[in-house]
Parts: sequence; C-alpha cells; structure tokens
Amino acid sequence: MCSSIKNSLVDSYNRPIDYFRIAVTSQCNLRCLYCMSEAHEERTDKATILSKQEMITLIEVLASVGVAKIRFTGGEPLLRMDIVELVSRAKQAGIKTVTLTTNGLLLDRFLPGLIDAGLDAINFSIDSLDSERYFSITRRDQYRRVRDNLDKLLSHNVLSVKLNVVLMRDINSDEIRGFVDLTRVYPVTVRFLELQPFDDNQIWRTGKFLGAEKIQELLQHEYPGLQTVKGKATQYYSYILPDHKGTIAIIPAFTRNFCSQCNKIRITSDGKLISCLYKKEGLTLLPLLRAHASHEMISDMLRKAVLQKPEDGKHGARDSVRTSMSEIGG
Ligand code: SAM
Ligand code: SF4
Repeated sequence: MCSSIKNSLVDSYNRPIDYFRIAVTSQCNLRCLYCMSEAHEERTDKATILSKQEMITLIEVLASVGVAKIRFTGGEPLLRMDIVELVSRAKQAGIKTVTLTTNGLLLDRFLPGLIDAGLDAINFSIDSLDSERYFSITRRDQYRRVRDNLDKLLSHNVLSVKLNVVLMRDINSDEIRGFVDLTRVYPVTVRFLELQPFDDNQIWRTGKFLGAEKIQELLQHEYPGLQTVKGKATQYYSYILPDHKGTIAIIPAFTRNFCSQCNKIRITSDGKLISCLYKKEGLTLLPLLRAHASHEMISDMLRKAVLQKPEDGKHGARDSVRTSMSEIGG
C-alpha cells in the first residue's frame, strides 16, 4: 500500500478527508455587504498570521497525509504577496488539485505567475455586471478593473474557471441572463450561490435570501431550453444550454445538507483547524508550527481535528454566530 494512502485522513464516520481550504488572510480589499461590515475587524496582527514558511510546512504535511486538493481563499488571497509561491510549493509537494477563490481585483498582478506555478482552477467571485451595482454590493468602486481581469482570465482559456454569484432578491436577481450569456462564448461554470447566514449585517434576514428552488424557477423562466445534468456534491443543480460552451449551477448551500458527503477541513489565517463550517472553534496549529514541531506532531493534530468532525454539523445550526465567511474562507 502506498504510504500516503496508508496514512490518509478518515473521520469517525468513515469519510475520507482529502480536501483542505486554507484562508491565507482575513483581510480584504472589498466589503461585500453580505460578508463584512465596513468596519469589520480584521486580524491584522502579524504575530497571529501564518508566515510563508509556516504555510509551506503545513502544505507539506497535508501532502504527506494524502490530501488531494487545497483551495486558497480568505479574506482576499491575492493580498498575500507570497500567494504564487504557496501555489507552487503545494504543486511541488504533490497536491493534485490546487485552486483559488478570489474577488479578482488584483488578478492582473498575479495571473501569469499563478499559471506558471501550476494553479489548476479559479473561482472568481463577481455579483454584478453593472458598475454602479457592483459598487453598491462591494462598497468599492472597482468594477472596471475586476471586469477587465475577468475578461482576461476567460479569454486566456488556460485555467478552469467558475464564477461565484451570490444571488439576492431585488439586488442582482435580474442579472441571471447577463451571467448565463457568458457561458455562450466561454467554457465557464456560472454558479448561483444561496446567501448564507454568516455576515455582520445579517442581510439574509431582510428578505434578500433566494432559495435554490426559486433560482431554478427564474433560470427556467429566462431559458425554457435549459437541460438538467447530474451535478455532484455542492453543484447539486447543474444545467447546460444548447450551443453554450459553459455550464450553469446552483449551490444550495443553505437549503440542502451536504454533511454526509463532506470531505473538507478549513484552516483559518491564524492557524485554527475548523472541522465543520458550523463549528465556531477549532484546534490551534499555530504554536506547533511556530515551535518547529515535527511533521508527525503536526499530522497528529490534523488527525485530532478530523476526528472532531461532526456527522451532521448543519443540523440545528441555523443561528450560527459566525460573523463573516472571511473568517474561515467561503
Ligand atoms: N475574497 C474572496 C472572494 O470573494 O472570492 C475569497 C473569500 S470569500 C469569503 C469566498 C466566497 O464566499 C465568495 O464567492 C463569496 O461570494 C462567498 N460568500 C461570502 N459571504 C457569503 C454569504 N454570507 N453567503 C454566501 N456566500 C458568501
Ligand atoms: Fe472580501 Fe470575498 Fe468577503 Fe467580498 S466575499 S468582502 S471579496 S472576503
């Protein structure tokens, strides 16, 4: 048996855990209204943020315990100047799939480096294709740069690209057609996300929430020729349209329960291992990494975190107290 399989991570309910989502920073250059308040407190204290070397050690240990996929996220991961090196070190360590979730604002600075480093895919978050509306959702006047970066990324056609669009009633729910039109020309997956209850302002309580069934209804109304295809995991509802190169998906993150298929652990920018999206606290890795602990001690801590994974963390967690997805990376 190959050593990575022998040592691989399995939780108490026999689920293989081979996907880690790492928030490389909690800082952000936008202030999306469903994610952060303008005054959102950021952990800017360098003393608690994993350094480049600590991240690399962690990534190497993850590779040694059979982790197959890492997603770098945040906050905004492109605010970390060493992001290209982190991607490159993850690929060199043997992580099969390395991906990034970004708001795209700084992508012009990093795209060639990320491609050279071996990045496999990007989730690009953009909630409006109208500059004034983009401003009112993100509270920053940055639509032009973000849109140029998106166009560059799509025309590059090197990386697999998914667009994340949080669909909100009376905010951007009339933009389905604009987003779906992108799939006509580009082999991109446009994903409409349900709003989740993790934000400082709790705007999901203000009637803006649109459930997957309603999003599907709006899609079918716009596109009667929509064909359903079998989606997997979170892309539960997936669709194609005749003559479109891309695909469309709805992510029912709030209304459906994916716990039974969960293969993921999250790591916060200050090194906490969060075994479930609905758990507020986690084991802290930072002291071990800072003390240059052996790979074995770090992998023991990973195993402990995996064993803390609840069978169904979502059940009864509707009033989660988490204040922002940026704490844990979406
Ligand atoms: N800043 C990067 C970005 O926006 O892509 C990465 C971090 S962000 C927390 C990751 C994803 O979470 C984004 O696609 C964002 O739209 C989504 N997100 C944040 N807060 C959310 C919420 N309350 N409900 C649904 N999705 C949310
Ligand atoms: Fe920043 Fe991403 Fe949160 Fe928007 S969703 S505020 S871009 S972390």
